[in-house]
Amino acid sequence: MSKASLVARFEQIFGRPPALVTRAPGRIEFIGNHTDYNGGTVLGASIDRGVAVAVAPRADGARNFHSTYTGKTVTLPAAGEPAKQTGEASWANYPLGVLAALPHFGLRAPEGFDYLADSDLPTGAGLSSSAAIELASALAFLGLTGQAPDRETVVKVGKHAENHFVGVPCGILDQGVSGFGEAGRLVFIDCAGPRFATVPMPAGASFWIFNTHTKHALVDGLYAARHRECMAAAAALGVGLLVEVSPEALRAAEAKVEPTAFKRARHVVEEIARVDACVKALEAGDLGAVGALLTASHRSSQHLFQNSTPELDFLVDTLAAAPGVFGARLTGGGFGGAVMALAGPGFGAAGAEAVAAAYAAKFGARPDVLPMGVGPGASVL
Ligand code: ADP
Ligand code: MG
Repeated sequence: MSKASLVARFEQIFGRPPALVTRAPGRIEFIGNHTDYNGGTVLGASIDRGVAVAVAPRADGARNFHSTYTGKTVTLPAAGEPAKQTGEASWANYPLGVLAALPHFGLRAPEGFDYLADSDLPTGAGLSSSAAIELASALAFLGLTGQAPDRETVVKVGKHAENHFVGVPCGILDQGVSGFGEAGRLVFIDCAGPRFATVPMPAGASFWIFNTHTKHALVDGLYAARHRECMAAAAALGVGLLVEVSPEALRAAEAKVEPTAFKRARHVVEEIARVDACVKALEAGDLGAVGALLTASHRSSQHLFQNSTPELDFLVDTLAAAPGVFGARLTGGGFGGAVMALAGPGFGAAGAEAVAAAYAAKFGARPDVLPMGVGPGASVL
Protein backbone atom coordinates (compact mmCIF):
# COMPACT_ATOMS: atom_id res chain seq x y z
CA MET A 1 0.00 0.00 0.00
CA SER A 2 1.06 3.62 -0.43
CA LYS A 3 2.70 5.60 2.37
CA ALA A 4 -0.57 7.54 2.86
CA SER A 5 -2.60 4.31 3.19
CA LEU A 6 -0.06 2.85 5.62
CA VAL A 7 -0.26 6.02 7.76
CA ALA A 8 -4.08 5.83 7.68
CA ARG A 9 -4.00 2.14 8.67
CA PHE A 10 -1.58 2.93 11.52
CA GLU A 11 -3.94 5.64 12.81
CA GLN A 12 -6.87 3.21 12.62
CA ILE A 13 -5.02 0.56 14.66
CA PHE A 14 -3.12 2.70 17.16
CA GLY A 15 -5.21 5.91 17.28
CA ARG A 16 -2.39 8.30 16.36
CA PRO A 17 -0.02 8.92 13.43
CA PRO A 18 3.36 7.15 13.10
CA ALA A 19 6.59 9.04 13.80
CA LEU A 20 8.24 7.59 10.71
CA VAL A 21 7.75 5.16 7.82
CA THR A 22 10.46 3.01 6.23
CA ARG A 23 10.55 0.62 3.31
CA ALA A 24 12.92 -2.13 2.16
CA PRO A 25 12.74 -4.16 -1.07
CA GLY A 26 12.87 -7.87 -1.75
CA ARG A 27 15.55 -9.18 -4.08
CA ILE A 28 16.30 -11.53 -6.95
CA GLU A 29 19.50 -13.56 -7.06
CA PHE A 30 20.58 -12.41 -10.53
CA ILE A 31 23.62 -14.65 -10.93
CA GLY A 32 26.00 -16.33 -8.47
CA ASN A 33 24.42 -19.61 -7.40
CA HIS A 34 25.81 -21.14 -4.17
CA THR A 35 28.88 -18.92 -4.50
CA ASP A 36 28.37 -17.01 -1.22
CA TYR A 37 29.54 -19.60 1.33
CA ASN A 38 32.45 -20.46 -0.96
CA GLY A 39 33.77 -16.91 -0.54
CA GLY A 40 32.75 -15.91 -4.06
CA THR A 41 30.84 -13.10 -5.73
CA VAL A 42 27.16 -12.65 -6.51
CA LEU A 43 24.92 -10.14 -8.32
CA GLY A 44 21.43 -9.35 -7.01
CA ALA A 45 18.56 -7.09 -8.05
CA SER A 46 16.53 -5.08 -5.55
CA ILE A 47 12.98 -5.31 -6.86
CA ASP A 48 10.14 -2.81 -6.89
CA ARG A 49 8.18 -4.69 -4.22
CA GLY A 50 8.94 -4.79 -0.54
CA VAL A 51 7.93 -4.35 3.08
CA ALA A 52 6.97 -0.99 4.63
CA VAL A 53 7.08 -0.36 8.38
CA ALA A 54 5.50 2.50 10.38
CA VAL A 55 6.43 3.16 14.01
CA ALA A 56 5.70 5.57 16.85
CA PRO A 57 7.27 5.67 20.31
CA ARG A 58 5.27 4.75 23.45
CA ALA A 59 5.96 6.19 26.90
CA ASP A 60 4.76 3.08 28.79
CA GLY A 61 7.47 0.80 27.35
CA ALA A 62 5.02 -1.70 25.76
CA ARG A 63 5.95 -3.05 22.32
CA ASN A 64 3.02 -3.64 19.95
CA PHE A 65 3.67 -5.39 16.64
CA HIS A 66 0.94 -5.48 14.01
CA SER A 67 1.22 -6.88 10.49
CA THR A 68 -1.41 -6.64 7.76
CA TYR A 69 -0.14 -10.13 6.92
CA THR A 70 -1.85 -11.65 10.00
CA GLY A 71 -4.14 -8.71 10.85
CA LYS A 72 -3.37 -9.21 14.56
CA THR A 73 -1.28 -7.41 17.17
CA VAL A 74 1.47 -9.13 19.17
CA THR A 75 2.07 -7.26 22.45
CA LEU A 76 5.20 -7.65 24.55
CA PRO A 77 5.32 -6.19 28.08
CA ALA A 78 7.69 -3.36 28.95
CA ALA A 79 10.26 -5.30 30.92
CA GLY A 80 12.55 -8.15 29.95
CA GLU A 81 14.32 -9.69 26.97
CA PRO A 82 11.83 -10.58 24.22
CA ALA A 83 11.26 -14.33 23.97
CA LYS A 84 11.15 -16.12 20.63
CA GLN A 85 7.54 -16.22 19.39
CA THR A 86 5.78 -19.33 18.09
CA GLY A 87 2.68 -20.14 16.05
CA GLU A 88 0.76 -17.26 14.53
CA ALA A 89 2.96 -14.69 16.29
CA SER A 90 6.20 -16.11 14.87
CA TRP A 91 6.42 -13.44 12.13
CA ALA A 92 7.30 -11.00 14.98
CA ASN A 93 10.62 -12.83 15.38
CA TYR A 94 11.94 -10.76 12.45
CA PRO A 95 11.53 -7.33 14.16
CA LEU A 96 12.33 -8.90 17.56
CA GLY A 97 15.52 -10.35 16.09
CA VAL A 98 16.46 -6.86 14.90
CA LEU A 99 15.92 -5.44 18.42
CA ALA A 100 18.08 -8.23 19.85
CA ALA A 101 20.79 -7.67 17.19
CA LEU A 102 21.23 -3.90 17.68
CA PRO A 103 23.35 -4.10 20.91
CA HIS A 104 25.78 -6.48 19.14
CA PHE A 105 26.71 -3.55 16.90
CA GLY A 106 26.98 -0.99 19.71
CA LEU A 107 23.50 0.36 18.88
CA ARG A 108 20.57 1.06 21.19
CA ALA A 109 17.15 -0.60 20.82
CA PRO A 110 14.08 1.62 21.32
CA GLU A 111 12.02 0.92 24.45
CA GLY A 112 8.26 1.17 23.93
CA PHE A 113 6.64 1.57 20.48
CA ASP A 114 3.71 0.76 18.20
CA TYR A 115 4.77 -0.97 14.97
CA LEU A 116 2.92 -1.77 11.73
CA ALA A 117 4.30 -3.80 8.79
CA ASP A 118 2.74 -4.20 5.35
CA SER A 119 4.07 -5.98 2.28
CA ASP A 120 3.43 -6.29 -1.45
CA LEU A 121 5.98 -9.10 -1.68
CA PRO A 122 4.82 -12.72 -1.79
CA THR A 123 6.34 -14.60 1.19
CA GLY A 124 8.29 -17.79 0.61
CA ALA A 125 8.63 -17.10 -3.14
CA GLY A 126 12.40 -16.81 -2.95
CA LEU A 127 12.19 -13.00 -3.10
CA SER A 128 13.43 -12.57 0.48
CA SER A 129 10.52 -10.94 2.24
CA SER A 130 12.43 -11.85 5.41
CA ALA A 131 15.38 -9.57 4.60
CA ALA A 132 12.92 -6.84 3.56
CA ILE A 133 11.10 -6.90 6.90
CA GLU A 134 14.44 -7.02 8.76
CA LEU A 135 15.85 -3.98 6.98
CA ALA A 136 12.64 -1.96 7.13
CA SER A 137 12.43 -2.77 10.86
CA ALA A 138 16.09 -1.89 11.47
CA LEU A 139 15.71 1.54 9.80
CA ALA A 140 12.48 2.15 11.77
CA PHE A 141 14.08 1.32 15.15
CA LEU A 142 17.21 3.33 14.31
CA GLY A 143 15.04 6.28 13.27
CA LEU A 144 13.06 6.12 16.52
CA THR A 145 16.28 6.30 18.54
CA GLY A 146 17.98 8.93 16.34
CA GLN A 147 20.86 6.64 15.32
CA ALA A 148 22.33 6.56 11.80
CA PRO A 149 24.99 3.86 11.39
CA ASP A 150 26.48 3.19 7.94
CA ARG A 151 24.64 1.02 5.39
CA GLU A 152 26.90 -2.00 5.93
CA THR A 153 26.03 -2.05 9.65
CA VAL A 154 22.28 -1.93 8.89
CA VAL A 155 22.76 -4.88 6.51
CA LYS A 156 24.68 -6.82 9.17
CA VAL A 157 22.01 -6.09 11.81
CA GLY A 158 19.42 -7.69 9.48
CA LYS A 159 21.60 -10.71 8.81
CA HIS A 160 22.34 -11.11 12.53
CA ALA A 161 18.58 -11.12 13.28
CA GLU A 162 17.95 -13.85 10.70
CA ASN A 163 20.97 -15.98 11.68
CA HIS A 164 20.71 -15.75 15.46
CA PHE A 165 17.11 -14.92 16.48
CA VAL A 166 15.07 -16.43 13.64
CA GLY A 167 17.70 -19.17 13.25
CA VAL A 168 18.16 -19.27 9.45
CA PRO A 169 21.84 -19.58 8.40
CA CYS A 170 21.53 -17.28 5.32
CA GLY A 171 24.53 -15.53 3.73
CA ILE A 172 24.85 -11.78 3.11
CA LEU A 173 23.09 -11.68 -0.31
CA ASP A 174 19.50 -11.01 0.82
CA GLN A 175 20.18 -8.20 3.27
CA GLY A 176 23.05 -6.81 1.16
CA VAL A 177 20.86 -6.34 -1.92
CA SER A 178 17.92 -4.94 0.07
CA GLY A 179 20.29 -2.50 1.78
CA PHE A 180 22.50 -1.43 -1.13
CA GLY A 181 19.94 -1.58 -3.96
CA GLU A 182 19.43 1.35 -6.32
CA ALA A 183 16.84 1.88 -9.03
CA GLY A 184 18.31 0.88 -12.39
CA ARG A 185 21.38 -0.82 -10.89
CA LEU A 186 22.30 -4.31 -9.70
CA VAL A 187 24.15 -4.97 -6.44
CA PHE A 188 27.51 -6.74 -6.64
CA ILE A 189 28.70 -8.46 -3.47
CA ASP A 190 32.12 -9.92 -2.85
CA CYS A 191 31.07 -12.22 0.00
CA ALA A 192 34.59 -12.65 1.38
CA GLY A 193 34.84 -8.99 2.54
CA PRO A 194 32.01 -8.46 2.38
CA ARG A 195 32.39 -5.66 -0.17
CA PHE A 196 29.39 -4.02 -1.84
CA ALA A 197 29.15 -2.15 -5.15
CA THR A 198 26.53 -1.48 -7.82
CA VAL A 199 26.64 -1.96 -11.60
CA PRO A 200 24.27 -0.39 -14.14
CA MET A 201 21.29 -2.39 -15.40
CA PRO A 202 21.07 -1.58 -19.13
CA ALA A 203 17.82 0.07 -20.18
CA GLY A 204 15.27 -1.98 -22.10
CA ALA A 205 15.42 -5.14 -19.97
CA SER A 206 12.67 -6.50 -17.75
CA PHE A 207 12.59 -9.25 -15.14
CA TRP A 208 10.02 -11.98 -14.90
CA ILE A 209 9.70 -14.40 -12.01
CA PHE A 210 7.91 -17.73 -12.47
CA ASN A 211 7.25 -19.22 -9.04
CA THR A 212 6.51 -22.94 -9.25
CA HIS A 213 5.49 -23.40 -5.59
CA THR A 214 7.44 -26.64 -5.65
CA LYS A 215 9.97 -27.33 -2.95
CA HIS A 216 11.92 -30.53 -2.46
CA ALA A 217 10.92 -32.15 0.84
CA LEU A 218 14.58 -32.78 1.71
CA VAL A 219 15.80 -29.30 0.78
CA ASP A 220 17.64 -28.56 4.06
CA GLY A 221 19.53 -31.84 3.90
CA LEU A 222 20.35 -31.27 0.22
CA TYR A 223 21.78 -27.78 0.95
CA ALA A 224 23.88 -29.24 3.75
CA ALA A 225 25.15 -32.00 1.44
CA ARG A 226 26.17 -29.45 -1.24
CA HIS A 227 27.93 -27.35 1.41
CA ARG A 228 29.84 -30.43 2.60
CA GLU A 229 30.82 -31.42 -0.95
CA CYS A 230 32.17 -27.90 -1.65
CA MET A 231 34.22 -27.93 1.55
CA ALA A 232 35.51 -31.44 0.77
CA ALA A 233 36.61 -30.26 -2.70
CA ALA A 234 38.38 -27.22 -1.20
CA ALA A 235 40.20 -29.45 1.31
CA ALA A 236 41.27 -31.89 -1.44
CA LEU A 237 42.60 -28.90 -3.42
CA GLY A 238 44.49 -27.60 -0.40
CA VAL A 239 42.59 -24.29 -0.12
CA GLY A 240 40.29 -22.83 2.56
CA LEU A 241 37.46 -21.90 0.18
CA LEU A 242 36.77 -22.63 -3.50
CA VAL A 243 37.06 -18.92 -4.41
CA GLU A 244 40.84 -19.39 -4.17
CA VAL A 245 40.86 -21.75 -7.18
CA SER A 246 40.73 -20.56 -10.81
CA PRO A 247 38.83 -22.58 -13.46
CA GLU A 248 42.20 -23.52 -15.06
CA ALA A 249 43.77 -24.63 -11.76
CA LEU A 250 40.67 -26.70 -10.99
CA ARG A 251 40.83 -28.52 -14.34
CA ALA A 252 44.50 -29.28 -13.79
CA ALA A 253 43.76 -30.75 -10.35
CA GLU A 254 40.79 -32.94 -11.32
CA ALA A 255 42.51 -36.19 -10.26
CA LYS A 256 42.82 -34.93 -6.67
CA VAL A 257 39.08 -34.54 -6.13
CA GLU A 258 36.38 -37.21 -5.77
CA PRO A 259 34.14 -37.03 -8.91
CA THR A 260 30.92 -35.73 -7.28
CA ALA A 261 32.79 -33.11 -5.25
CA PHE A 262 34.63 -32.14 -8.45
CA LYS A 263 31.35 -31.44 -10.27
CA ARG A 264 30.15 -29.23 -7.38
CA ALA A 265 33.49 -27.39 -7.33
CA ARG A 266 33.42 -26.88 -11.10
CA HIS A 267 29.98 -25.26 -10.81
CA VAL A 268 31.12 -22.90 -8.07
CA VAL A 269 34.45 -21.93 -9.64
CA GLU A 270 32.95 -21.37 -13.11
CA GLU A 271 29.93 -19.57 -11.62
CA ILE A 272 32.24 -17.07 -9.91
CA ALA A 273 33.90 -16.49 -13.31
CA ARG A 274 30.42 -16.01 -14.84
CA VAL A 275 29.57 -13.35 -12.22
CA ASP A 276 32.71 -11.42 -13.19
CA ALA A 277 31.91 -11.82 -16.92
CA CYS A 278 28.35 -10.65 -16.23
CA VAL A 279 29.58 -7.45 -14.52
CA LYS A 280 31.67 -6.70 -17.65
CA ALA A 281 28.73 -7.45 -19.98
CA LEU A 282 26.42 -5.21 -17.92
CA GLU A 283 28.95 -2.37 -17.99
CA ALA A 284 29.19 -2.79 -21.77
CA GLY A 285 25.36 -2.76 -22.05
CA ASP A 286 25.44 -6.14 -23.79
CA LEU A 287 22.14 -7.76 -22.74
CA GLY A 288 22.62 -10.66 -25.16
CA ALA A 289 25.85 -11.63 -23.41
CA VAL A 290 24.24 -11.19 -19.98
CA GLY A 291 21.37 -13.49 -20.99
CA ALA A 292 23.74 -16.17 -22.31
CA LEU A 293 25.58 -16.13 -18.95
CA LEU A 294 22.28 -16.49 -17.06
CA THR A 295 21.26 -19.54 -19.07
CA ALA A 296 24.78 -21.00 -18.76
CA SER A 297 24.47 -20.58 -14.99
CA HIS A 298 21.26 -22.61 -15.07
CA ARG A 299 22.83 -25.38 -17.17
CA SER A 300 25.63 -25.59 -14.63
CA SER A 301 23.10 -25.86 -11.77
CA GLN A 302 21.24 -28.50 -13.74
CA HIS A 303 24.17 -30.72 -14.70
CA LEU A 304 27.02 -29.99 -12.28
CA PHE A 305 25.59 -28.70 -9.01
CA GLN A 306 22.39 -30.74 -9.53
CA ASN A 307 20.16 -28.37 -7.57
CA SER A 308 17.56 -28.01 -10.33
CA THR A 309 14.30 -29.93 -10.86
CA PRO A 310 12.33 -31.02 -13.96
CA GLU A 311 9.90 -28.13 -13.31
CA LEU A 312 12.65 -25.48 -13.26
CA ASP A 313 14.41 -27.05 -16.27
CA PHE A 314 11.17 -26.99 -18.25
CA LEU A 315 10.64 -23.30 -17.52
CA VAL A 316 14.22 -22.45 -18.49
CA ASP A 317 14.01 -24.52 -21.70
CA THR A 318 10.70 -22.86 -22.65
CA LEU A 319 11.86 -19.34 -21.77
CA ALA A 320 15.23 -19.70 -23.50
CA ALA A 321 13.36 -20.55 -26.72
CA ALA A 322 10.80 -17.73 -26.35
CA PRO A 323 11.15 -14.65 -28.59
CA GLY A 324 12.48 -11.61 -26.73
CA VAL A 325 14.04 -13.52 -23.82
CA PHE A 326 17.77 -12.91 -23.23
CA GLY A 327 18.23 -15.75 -20.73
CA ALA A 328 16.72 -17.62 -17.80
CA ARG A 329 17.88 -19.49 -14.72
CA LEU A 330 16.73 -20.84 -11.42
CA THR A 331 17.07 -18.18 -8.75
CA GLY A 332 17.84 -18.90 -5.11
CA GLY A 333 18.91 -22.15 -3.52
CA GLY A 334 17.22 -24.44 -6.05
CA PHE A 335 15.57 -27.86 -5.50
CA GLY A 336 12.29 -26.14 -6.48
CA GLY A 337 11.26 -22.51 -6.12
CA ALA A 338 11.41 -19.95 -8.88
CA VAL A 339 12.94 -19.21 -12.29
CA MET A 340 13.99 -15.71 -13.33
CA ALA A 341 13.96 -14.55 -16.95
CA LEU A 342 15.65 -11.44 -18.33
CA ALA A 343 13.70 -10.21 -21.33
CA GLY A 344 13.51 -7.33 -23.75
CA PRO A 345 10.49 -5.35 -24.97
CA GLY A 346 9.60 -8.20 -27.38
CA PHE A 347 8.50 -10.34 -24.43
CA GLY A 348 5.39 -9.26 -22.53
CA ALA A 349 2.34 -10.51 -20.68
CA ALA A 350 1.20 -12.65 -23.64
CA GLY A 351 4.61 -14.34 -23.93
CA ALA A 352 4.69 -14.98 -20.18
CA GLU A 353 1.15 -16.39 -20.30
CA ALA A 354 2.17 -18.82 -23.08
CA VAL A 355 5.06 -20.09 -20.90
CA ALA A 356 2.75 -20.50 -17.87
CA ALA A 357 0.16 -22.34 -20.02
CA ALA A 358 2.80 -24.75 -21.40
CA TYR A 359 3.97 -25.42 -17.82
CA ALA A 360 0.38 -26.01 -16.64
CA ALA A 361 -0.26 -28.43 -19.50
CA LYS A 362 2.79 -30.47 -18.48
CA PHE A 363 2.68 -30.30 -14.67
CA GLY A 364 -1.04 -29.72 -13.96
CA ALA A 365 -0.48 -26.52 -11.94
CA ARG A 366 0.12 -22.92 -12.93
CA PRO A 367 3.23 -21.05 -11.84
CA ASP A 368 2.77 -17.51 -10.49
CA VAL A 369 3.92 -15.02 -13.13
CA LEU A 370 5.43 -11.93 -11.51
CA PRO A 371 6.83 -9.10 -13.64
CA MET A 372 9.44 -7.14 -11.67
CA GLY A 373 11.25 -3.85 -11.96
CA VAL A 374 14.53 -2.90 -10.27
CA GLY A 375 13.77 -0.43 -7.48
CA PRO A 376 15.60 1.50 -4.77
CA GLY A 377 17.14 -0.02 -1.64
CA ALA A 378 15.96 0.29 1.96
CA SER A 379 15.20 3.84 3.12
CA VAL A 380 13.20 6.08 5.43
CA LEU A 381 10.27 7.42 3.38
P1 ADP B 1 11.28 -15.37 1.91
O1 ADP B 1 12.32 -14.57 2.62
O2 ADP B 1 11.83 -16.10 0.70
O3 ADP B 1 10.07 -14.59 1.56
P2 ADP B 1 11.24 -16.68 4.45
O4 ADP B 1 10.62 -17.96 4.92
O5 ADP B 1 12.69 -16.47 4.67
O6 ADP B 1 10.83 -16.53 2.91
O7 ADP B 1 10.50 -15.46 5.14
C1 ADP B 1 9.09 -15.35 5.12
C2 ADP B 1 8.61 -14.95 6.49
O8 ADP B 1 8.93 -13.56 6.76
C3 ADP B 1 7.10 -15.01 6.63
O9 ADP B 1 6.66 -16.32 6.91
C4 ADP B 1 6.85 -14.04 7.78
O10 ADP B 1 7.10 -14.68 9.02
C5 ADP B 1 7.93 -12.98 7.57
N1 ADP B 1 7.37 -11.81 6.87
C6 ADP B 1 7.69 -11.36 5.65
N2 ADP B 1 6.98 -10.25 5.34
C7 ADP B 1 6.18 -10.00 6.38
C8 ADP B 1 5.21 -9.01 6.69
N3 ADP B 1 4.89 -8.03 5.85
N4 ADP B 1 4.58 -9.09 7.89
C9 ADP B 1 4.89 -10.07 8.75
N5 ADP B 1 5.79 -11.01 8.52
C10 ADP B 1 6.43 -11.00 7.36
MG1 MG C 1 14.07 -15.38 3.58
